Amino acid sequence: MSFSSLGLIEPLQRAVAELGYEAATPIQSAAIPLALQGRDVLAAAETGSGKTAAFGLPLLQRLAGREALPGRMLGLALVPTRELAVQVGKALQRYGRFQEPRARVAVIYGGVGYEPQIAAARGGVEIVVATPGRVLDLAERGDLAFDQLETLILDEADRLLALGFADELRLILERLPETRQSLLFSATFPAGVVGLAESLLRDPAKVQMEMESRPVARIRQRAIEVEKDSRTALLRELLKREGWERVLVFVGSKRRADNVSAKLEKRGIRSLALHGDLNQTQRMQALESFRKGRIQILMATDVAARGLDIVGLPCVVNYDLPRAPADYVHRIGRTGRAGAEGEAISFVTAEEDAHFRLIEKRNGLSVQRERLEGFEPKVWEPVSAKKGKAPTKGKRKSKKDKLREAAARGEPEPDSPWNNLARNRKRP
Ligand code: AMP
Repeated sequence: MSFSSLGLIEPLQRAVAELGYEAATPIQSAAIPLALQGRDVLAAAETGSGKTAAFGLPLLQRLAGREALPGRMLGLALVPTRELAVQVGKALQRYGRFQEPRARVAVIYGGVGYEPQIAAARGGVEIVVATPGRVLDLAERGDLAFDQLETLILDEADRLLALGFADELRLILERLPETRQSLLFSATFPAGVVGLAESLLRDPAKVQMEMESRPVARIRQRAIEVEKDSRTALLRELLKREGWERVLVFVGSKRRADNVSAKLEKRGIRSLALHGDLNQTQRMQALESFRKGRIQILMATDVAARGLDIVGLPCVVNYDLPRAPADYVHRIGRTGRAGAEGEAISFVTAEEDAHFRLIEKRNGLSVQRERLEGFEPKVWEPVSAKKGKAPTKGKRKSKKDKLREAAARGEPEPDSPWNNLARNRKRP
């Protein structure tokens, strides 16, 4: 569908045209007219679906020409990670650049100094893009108030909950004005997200709930059986054979990210690790190097890579399988974005055989197994799922892991704060 038929004002149409967006993606075609009408929206959308413009364009249109009071924003987008906050903030600025006056956008996240963020908030900003912890912090310190808020957006709601932001979200919701528009975007809908949607949204329009339109369909998925100790060599071999310019490689731990990255570097393959132990500047630098093509491999953990938008990423490799089946979809969704082709390769060891089957089952997928000449496993004795061996690392699962797995199975979360909130909240 063309952007001109969606009811967008001219400066926004011009901005998307200049960005080279020729047609609206399905989520944009569905969500933009509804959000422009002022409806609450519940959208099933993964990264790569064009969801940022789906909520960003109506938000900018609604706030066109408006001026926020100092310390009182009009629009707030909550996102799970700092990287996503930066990315969404940039996208909003790009989409709004032909508006007169332009909406002021502040990006607020933890792990960095307060001063610039407080100064921006106090100076007056129409739109804030934030991670929940820091924005709540600023509100509690009295630097930012939610009382003028007109539109709230939750982006990647499932990740927000999986990363343990339920309490912060509840506290933020308590501070919001009753009359407001709310838009909730999520890739998956475990019980926690359903509860959150019930408490947040009023008579929401539901968009794009069908599985067929999932971007995953465009991604060529492969699973290669390999011995555990041969995975780095296999990765090198694939790099040689396939000639990818850039590959995002997922690993299960920070240590593995550092180790494998160091091994590749020794062999002359430019590589960097991206994980939670790096400070914000290091993370930004790693990403920038990857985007600019200075490094070929980015070895990332799930948390560090969440929400990343890297244009032109031809391939994602699961060096370690994700623990939660839902993360498989999040990981492979980094490639094949906005209509491009992509490839996702999972390394499957005998130990992880049953876990990969579970991932396929939960996501309704069936991925053909392959073996690569020279890398065939010498012995292949899959560990039966019934024997109860831990799926990936030998480590005991944390409470959060168990919750995330239960959520991925669609089971209710008994102690979710949303359960109470959904019951207690009065509807006007
Ligand atoms: P998102 O899902 O919002 O992270 O967007 C994924 C990528 O698709 C980003 O690089 C966007 O700039 C791009 N994109 C979003 N909408 C469109 C569109 N209608 N046409 C082409 N590219 C788009």
